[in-house]
Amino acid sequence: MALDYERSPHLVAWELTRACQLHCRHCRARAIRHRNPAELTTEEIFGVLDAMSAFDPLPRLIFTGGDPLEREDLLPIIAAAVRRGHAVALAPSVTPRLTRSVLAEWASQGVGAVSLSLDGATPAVHDGFRGVAGTQARTLEMARAVVEAGMRLQINTTVSGQTAAEVEPLGALVPALGASSWELFFIIPTGRATAVAWEAEDQDRILRWLAQYRAKAALRVTAVGAPQFARYSDAELVPGRPPVMREARGMMFIDHVGDVYPSGYLPLAAGSVRSWPAPALYRESELFRGLRDNSRLAGRCGHCAWTAVCGGSRARAYAVTGDAWAEDPNCLLPV
Ligand code: SF4
Repeated sequence: MALDYERSPHLVAWELTRACQLHCRHCRARAIRHRNPAELTTEEIFGVLDAMSAFDPLPRLIFTGGDPLEREDLLPIIAAAVRRGHAVALAPSVTPRLTRSVLAEWASQGVGAVSLSLDGATPAVHDGFRGVAGTQARTLEMARAVVEAGMRLQINTTVSGQTAAEVEPLGALVPALGASSWELFFIIPTGRATAVAWEAEDQDRILRWLAQYRAKAALRVTAVGAPQFARYSDAELVPGRPPVMREARGMMFIDHVGDVYPSGYLPLAAGSVRSWPAPALYRESELFRGLRDNSRLAGRCGHCAWTAVCGGSRARAYAVTGDAWAEDPNCLLPV
């Protein structure tokens, strides 16, 4: 069925908890050691899943955190989502909780994919970024274990001034791990990442390299936080080309207490699933409708030939200017 981003997101990222034992320097969630007592309960989560059956087609669900393994009810939550027909993926933190037997259990429950973060081709860079020595070695071990368990492996890489030099070496390492997908997150200065430097010129250089890489790669390659990647891949605009997924357009984010955001990197809430069904927030809230309305975009993003396909990162515009409809400051497209 063709995707209509006005009606249904393609992807719902769901932060089941903010608790995590790592302390990553760029953490969007500003993860904490202990679970928040105000987190959505198991029964509330089941209720949200029931409400989401109104989406047609059903979105893919990615259970993330914090670390979803911090919730003792994770398996019943997975089972409930799979039973309702969602394609389910997990984005765990690489801590001692993540083991081969946990992965085997997820695979048997019907989890289709697991994403792991890998920010450096060397332990020094990755472990320095993640804040815990030995994390890169464990990540490589668990990455291979995901594939051996029969699930698809996605590698997520945070691209910042600190890790930009790692992208090309990772381009060789990621396929060698058996990954079917490599998602690069171009850092948005939010959460703990406000202290991580990033320049538009660096982003432009990496997107150019990535476009060449993607043309030859045997795995799916995507750029989160950089919807302008679309214009690096094709020499000319393709009429009728579908829009790139971005904040409120094909994606939504549910946080650990049930507040709904256009993405995990845009801290403007549309409302709470404790008060409203998730489909109503996605389809009808002023925030989500407004972010899908390209006529409200300002600056270059408002009169660029790529607006309908790209529209710029609304999260970066908000983080840098305080206006979610401002032009994406990291686009170097001359106008
Ligand atoms: S100016 Fe805005 S809409 Fe145009 S390509 Fe750049 S980010 Fe995308």
